[in-house]
Amino acid sequence: MAQLIDGKRISQEIKDELKVEVQKLKEQGKEICLAVVQVGSDPASTVYVRNKKKACAYVGIESRAYELPEETTEEELVNLIKELNQDETVNGILVQLPLPGQIDEDKIIRTISPDKDVDGFHPVSVGRLWIGEKGFLSCTPAGIIQLLKRSGIGIEGKNCVIVGRSNIVGKPMAALILRENGTVTVTHSRTKDLAAVTSQADILIAAIGKARFVTAEYVKEGAVVIDVGMNRDDQNRLCGDVDFESVEPKVSAITPVPGGVGPMTIAMLMDNCVETVRC
Ligand code: NDP
Repeated sequence: MAQLIDGKRISQEIKDELKVEVQKLKEQGKEICLAVVQVGSDPASTVYVRNKKKACAYVGIESRAYELPEETTEEELVNLIKELNQDETVNGILVQLPLPGQIDEDKIIRTISPDKDVDGFHPVSVGRLWIGEKGFLSCTPAGIIQLLKRSGIGIEGKNCVIVGRSNIVGKPMAALILRENGTVTVTHSRTKDLAAVTSQADILIAAIGKARFVTAEYVKEGAVVIDVGMNRDDQNRLCGDVDFESVEPKVSAITPVPGGVGPMTIAMLMDNCVETVRC
């Protein structure tokens, strides 16, 4: 039977470690404050924002909520972010995506000061990641590295295949695997004979956004499979990009959905918040 990589347990472990670190920082007079900006009331965004605030409270980080109406203009949001950039009591700024259509997300990401970019989406953070400089790491891929390490799965020298090349998962994932001395292949919708490529992977990371897309024929016997997907199936049940039932018997370790990668993203966001005050 495959090892079940337990994101719930590992994310809790990280939050507990951060809680201790935050307490020590407080004793040195270092307080951490995260500004959480939400525009509109998309129900999924509301849930994400609520969970982020809850995690802040647990770890001991102040979260300051900015709830703006759906019709907020780009200029208004830019002005708020510029204020938060200047505000010395704010360490990190998080703008919950997606934003309403009238606002250019890319412009907003670039307006956040790279020193407060706790999502790690600013081009400066992305550049730092690729050249191996210290900086804010994109939360989901950073969480996946922690999942592997804390489950005793080595990355060095492994053949790692990523399905998906988005700016928030696939690309930063590739950079982080390189940092860990893995060998990386990034695949996407134009990849020819995808199953032939993925079935070479020692570690396969699926970030596609298609329910149960990766079936047993895509994976090598004994591989480690990380499922980033968060999809709804025909019956509106939450499911990943991996067909767990068919893949699990063939592999050595696998993440479940829910309870795998999902909880790690918030834990790593908390880590980035703490990073703002680490010396
Ligand atoms: P995007 O839609 O931005 O990217 C999907 C990627 O998958 C693209 O690069 C696309 O290729 C590739 N792709 C699509 N179809 C195929 C195919 N048939 N064969 C090969 N590649 C394909 O998605 P995200 O990266 O934002 O998210 C991926 C999944 O991860 C989603 O389910 C999302 O909900 C989930 N997610 C989960 C998080 C968590 O915390 N657990 C955080 C972020 C995302 P191309 O570039 O060629 O179009």
